[in-house]
Amino acid sequence: MSNVYNWQLGRQMSYPYEESHPDWQFAFVFNTNRCIGCQTCTMACKSTWTFARGQELMWWNNVETKPYGGYPQFWDAKLLKMLHEADPEGQRWKAGAAGRNGAGPYGKFEGKTIFEASETNKDPKGPQVALGYLPSDDEWTSPNIHEETAAGRVRGPNDWTESVSLPEHKVWYFHLARICNHCTYPGCLAACPRQAIYKRKEDGIVLIDQNRCRGYRKCVEACPYKKAMYQPVTRVSEKCVGCYPRIEGKDETLSQDGQPLETRCMSACVGKIRLQGLVKIDKNGQWSKDPENPLYYLIRERRVALPLYPQFGTEPNGYYIPPRWAPRAYLEQMFGPGVEHAIEQYVCPDRDFTIEKGPKVAEVEVTMPSGQARKQEIFNDTVIGYNKAGKEVIRTTVEEPTFERAPIHLNSI
Ligand code: SF4
Ligand code: SF4
Repeated sequence: MSNVYNWQLGRQMSYPYEESHPDWQFAFVFNTNRCIGCQTCTMACKSTWTFARGQELMWWNNVETKPYGGYPQFWDAKLLKMLHEADPEGQRWKAGAAGRNGAGPYGKFEGKTIFEASETNKDPKGPQVALGYLPSDDEWTSPNIHEETAAGRVRGPNDWTESVSLPEHKVWYFHLARICNHCTYPGCLAACPRQAIYKRKEDGIVLIDQNRCRGYRKCVEACPYKKAMYQPVTRVSEKCVGCYPRIEGKDETLSQDGQPLETRCMSACVGKIRLQGLVKIDKNGQWSKDPENPLYYLIRERRVALPLYPQFGTEPNGYYIPPRWAPRAYLEQMFGPGVEHAIEQYVCPDRDFTIEKGPKVAEVEVTMPSGQARKQEIFNDTVIGYNKAGKEVIRTTVEEPTFERAPIHLNSI
């Protein structure tokens, strides 16, 4: 048992495994405002990693529709209920109480994590290292159940106009794309009795050693996000591997000069909602200050992207820009107390990042989360992206260039 610092919770917490940190950490930001639920990411992953016999119900990347959808079904509602029963005082945050060196930007979590709740929870099947459950076979079927089923209702014909007004739509849903979060304090790793799960020093990717695994499914039970899965043909557990050959620059078909590539789900994304990379971890296990890194900038500087269910306590490395139209109470139980700030930052972006300044091209009125209108100036700036070696790999303007096809090529592909 270790006493570790979880910056997302703004406090120390107990973790039932020895503390150890990688040099770099795989992390990603998903912008839920842009996801169209096309499942291209899902199929890019499936066609690369999970097309074998026994993997039919395995979707390392899935996109579910909130609030009703889930893969496996009800995974989050079930665990939240278990946490509430283990800690009836509820999942409370002390807003604004920043932790060590201001490293708890969302306030301080005063409820119980899955590790802390397991210490007091009396499971009839015996002690657990993390509060969790094993989904039934049925719950793994129908990964896309309740797709685009909206919550809320409209009472009369005139209510439709009001129902789709910001800041909160009365009738709403949003797509939530999910992969393994390659957590800093993984529940799957802590629960494995064979020590078959490990976190790589070079990128923090969490892997299952297929030779050591005996298929006890303790990882499936302990992962709060249900991203460790059982393979009934090989009779061992499997999970998202973070496309590590691409991260290592060893995908011989595509990598140039051994440079890292994005994972399959990230590079295939049609909605361009995904940003992925590595963040530097310091000797204390915290994120090194690096505002030039777009992940660091979005997550730590601007706090526009938030962790998914930080209260579970695994310090997930997947972050989400919350959907600006969804009810705040729902979003706050999902992303913590930083929701209002994140939406405000998203609605009115700044011009601080690595850009070449361009001319002003528009001025629009934006509805802030508070409901107040604000003027937002839009500039045709140029954004520049660099790879790990510091080489420029992308340059794009805010106003995307358009190309008109020559008449000779009309209606041809
Ligand atoms: S999301 Fe689940 S499977 Fe992935 S590292 Fe975290 S606990 Fe393990
Ligand atoms: S490919 Fe992108 S836009 Fe399409 S479902 Fe996946 S995350 Fe959403």
